[in-house]
Amino acid sequence: MNRRTFLNSILSTLLYITHRQLSAAEALVKKDSDFLKVENLEKNNTTIMVDPVFLEHHIGPTHPESPSRIQHIERALIESNLFEITKSVGLKNDIYKWIETVHTKNHIKSIRESTPIANKVATAAVNAALSAVDSIMHNNSTNVFCATRPPGHHALNTGREEGFCYYNHVAIAAKYAQEKYNLKRILIIDWDYHHGNSTEAIFYTDPSVLFFSTHDKNAYPGTGDPLKTGSGDGEGYNINVHLPCGTSDRIIIKKFNEILLPKARKFKPDLVLISAGFDSRKDDLLGCFSITDSGFIELTKIAMTIANEFCNNRLVSVLEGGYNLDGNAKAVVAHVSTLKNNMHTS
Ligand SMILES: [Zn+2]
Repeated sequence: MNRRTFLNSILSTLLYITHRQLSAAEALVKKDSDFLKVENLEKNNTTIMVDPVFLEHHIGPTHPESPSRIQHIERALIESNLFEITKSVGLKNDIYKWIETVHTKNHIKSIRESTPIANKVATAAVNAALSAVDSIMHNNSTNVFCATRPPGHHALNTGREEGFCYYNHVAIAAKYAQEKYNLKRILIIDWDYHHGNSTEAIFYTDPSVLFFSTHDKNAYPGTGDPLKTGSGDGEGYNINVHLPCGTSDRIIIKKFNEILLPKARKFKPDLVLISAGFDSRKDDLLGCFSITDSGFIELTKIAMTIANEFCNNRLVSVLEGGYNLDGNAKAVVAHVSTLKNNMHTS
């Protein structure tokens, strides 16, 4: 072991111990008070939802959708002094009632019985997204990022995992915001490398949800044709933007400015949700785009501008894909730092 490797291993150990101590402190907070009752939160702030449960479950030991994704993110948050704004995910007793707003009873039964650990982790991811909505609606946070896994935007009602997804947490959060808080119009922005086929399917005829997705339509799951624009009352509320391999910051930012911004301004959302997949980042194992962390900062700012103009900055972002462990963690830090440090004060 050379000197640099030795120093790195000491740093890793220290970070691990710090993390464990913070997790223990968080467990106490969670035990003593429900998330929504946590005091001393300033208004106009950012919260990151985390939980040890996201370190459980992996599809296979060498599978890219692994707990290591969250370990790397949490370590990066600690190194960036962002771990102090994390909160553990609270439990909702009626979580399946909300999952059923999007998924069939048969799908849920099959997932619970066939993959119980995955069910537990995926249910916690839904919990995080709903708790994030609670937090902003109770003015405990201005915006929230959910450092959760597994992803959700491919979860169809097939009774099994689809594209590493079990339950579509972002779609369920949209339904939750509408039904519990009477919000009318929800904008979902999906910048994952892959098309959010489940989100599209759920809201395809629904004009109350504007779905904007940038993706490579030639990749899994093979959907995302720009000609698919919604149907019935939902015509015009499904926006697919295909981007080719090698897509740069300049190209995706242009699409956001030229397509998303005018559509969103016409739509006037009451809440902005982001399916924040970072497999669209450069050097991802499963993607071929060239988006940098600076690019994600700009996309985040555009989403925040919409939230500021129409919905009192209300924005919930949920992790989707992202399989280059270091790259994914860096993109998350860039995204969350922007959410935290670029607050509009109007
Ligand atoms: Zn993806």
